[in-house]
Amino acid sequence: MTQTHEFEVIIVGGGGAGLMAAMYASQGAKTAVISKLYPSRSHTGAAQGGIGAALGNSEEDHAEWHTFDTVKGSDYLGDQDAIEFMCLEAVQSVYDLEHMGLPFSRTPDGRIAQRYFGGHTNNVTGKPVMRSCYAADRTGHMILQTLYQQCIKNGIRFFDEYHVMDLLIENGAVAGVVAYELATGELHVFRAKAVIIATGGYGRIWEITSNAYSFTGDGVALTLRRGIPAEDMEFFQFHPTGILRLGILITEAVRGEGGVLINDKGERFMERYASHVKDLASRDVVSRAMYLEMREGRGIGGKRYLYLDVRPDTVNKYAEADGRTRPDGSLYRVTAQEILSKIPDITDFCRTYLGVDPVKDPIPVQPTAHYAMGGIPTDKLGRVVVDENNTVLPGLYAAGEVACVSVHGANRLGTNSLVDLIVFGKHAGIDAAKYAQGASLQPLPDDPTAYTQETIHKLMTGDGSEKVAEITRDLRAMMFDHVGVFRIEEGLKEAQVKLEELKERYQHVCVRDQSKQYNTELTNTWELGNLLDLAQAVTVAALARTESRGAHAREDYPKRDDANWLKHSLAWMKDGQIVLGYKPVTITKYQPKERVY
Ligand SMILES: Cc1cc2nc3c(=O)[nH]c(=O)nc-3n(C[C@H](O)[C@H](O)[C@H](O)COP(=O)(O)OP(=O)(O)OC[C@H]3O[C@@H](n4cnc5c(N)ncnc54)[C@H](O)[C@@H]3O)c2cc1C
Repeated sequence: MTQTHEFEVIIVGGGGAGLMAAMYASQGAKTAVISKLYPSRSHTGAAQGGIGAALGNSEEDHAEWHTFDTVKGSDYLGDQDAIEFMCLEAVQSVYDLEHMGLPFSRTPDGRIAQRYFGGHTNNVTGKPVMRSCYAADRTGHMILQTLYQQCIKNGIRFFDEYHVMDLLIENGAVAGVVAYELATGELHVFRAKAVIIATGGYGRIWEITSNAYSFTGDGVALTLRRGIPAEDMEFFQFHPTGILRLGILITEAVRGEGGVLINDKGERFMERYASHVKDLASRDVVSRAMYLEMREGRGIGGKRYLYLDVRPDTVNKYAEADGRTRPDGSLYRVTAQEILSKIPDITDFCRTYLGVDPVKDPIPVQPTAHYAMGGIPTDKLGRVVVDENNTVLPGLYAAGEVACVSVHGANRLGTNSLVDLIVFGKHAGIDAAKYAQGASLQPLPDDPTAYTQETIHKLMTGDGSEKVAEITRDLRAMMFDHVGVFRIEEGLKEAQVKLEELKERYQHVCVRDQSKQYNTELTNTWELGNLLDLAQAVTVAALARTESRGAHAREDYPKRDDANWLKHSLAWMKDGQIVLGYKPVTITKYQPKERVY
């Protein structure tokens, strides 16, 4: 039996963005959060390094510098009005988190501690600046716990372990969502005046990824199927330092604390690729440099990985060579104890998964699929915009990694996702509540669960000649080979053909588990359908963009081409095919320049 619920604002997703939105929406509207995971298991909890804000606690810093670094880091594809808004709001947002009780690490005089991160600089000297506010290497965990406590305190209604499968739109406005309850296998219809999608990213498309199993892009997939475009899908960030083969993230904070990347010859090769900031260049630059090193045969033992070295002797040697000082002017020197206290979880990961002790041995690393710059197009208030003219779809919002505001453009700077969640989650929540106060519930379609029921029925009664695990494996390997750090026309075309084949194979899968309770085989199969759609959008948009910009590096078009490509892509799904459109980038103060690090 399908149950129907009514709220004013529904938030899909209980991660950082969803909880922030819920807190603010609940101040003006009857609000509920629907989440396929228990909220405290969301991927935000895995964020390690920190949240960027120009507090200037350890040295001079300004929101304007943060703005420029973000514009430059985005390879000029980010919308500058939104970036400026985010960097200004970041400062108060971090203090708000502190006041909610978030246990930040502290400076000796008791202020929020800050550290270096890639791409964050003093705009006058060009040197790295300490902008990342952190709670050891558990910043995301602390944010998630703090926000969850606040939501519970405010009496927000949670529907945990409900998997949202469809978005209902009637009369051109949002009517609600359809969710599958994991514990019972029942479908629920949630009517709402406003829906905020905050479902996170889709890194599970790639073989080596830092992303949680649940990062299957459900939000983008369900809006694509309802005629809403996805923006800038060709831009997906590969983080330089994933644990060899496993992809588990080693935060950039390790390099912020003085760690360096080393090749087989023992060289600190980033000196050659980014002479100013070296290992702290932006992620696209570092990942590409690593690939080139490995391609030239300078991977460790000629293999496809490099070393990240954070042993105190190495850190101190290069800190001295760089003339790196502490805020009080003394030479930067670290002890093993200090390293351990700043990155305790990373140390544990290395010991557990690699048998390597980072203060005694270098860590074997390789680039890992990490962050979706693209997603559901929104404006600064989180409102979803559905075409080249930024027409708002009434009642629909998106925030967090699932959204493309766009503040990250072609490449996100480290620490800027947590800021994005907090700032745009908050504004989406405020605006959705305001909208709901003046809107009425849309009528439901005649049979609101029709699409979901049909799709589930198809998956449960397929001929079973294909296996979900095999299609998933083939998809991920293929995307890593052809739509990874470097791309080229032949590879992208091959990926397109392979994707058609994989989608065809997907028509033949069958969910064997017919039970109602916790049928994860069914939800995994559903998620694979989402990943296939998103992989197609990424590949088609990447093939079309004949330039290299930020995380999108084309071997056949190695240069950025502002004359033709300084524009956002929009991908629509029409009859199973991707159709592309484009819209301009908002430029306010900063004219595009070549990036030098
Ligand atoms: C290992 C790692 C380290 C990182 N470190 C940093 C860092 O130091 N600094 C930084 O700025 N960024 C960092 N990032 C990036 C950042 O953490 C993420 O981009 C961000 O946390 C995403 O938050 P979110 O709220 O958008 O999504 P999430 O926190 O993943 O939340 C998504 C929510 O959506 C729900 N959901 C998904 N699909 C459905 C569905 N179909 N139905 C119902 N619910 C659904 C899930 O249950 C979950 O609650 C890191 C990312 C990773 C992977």
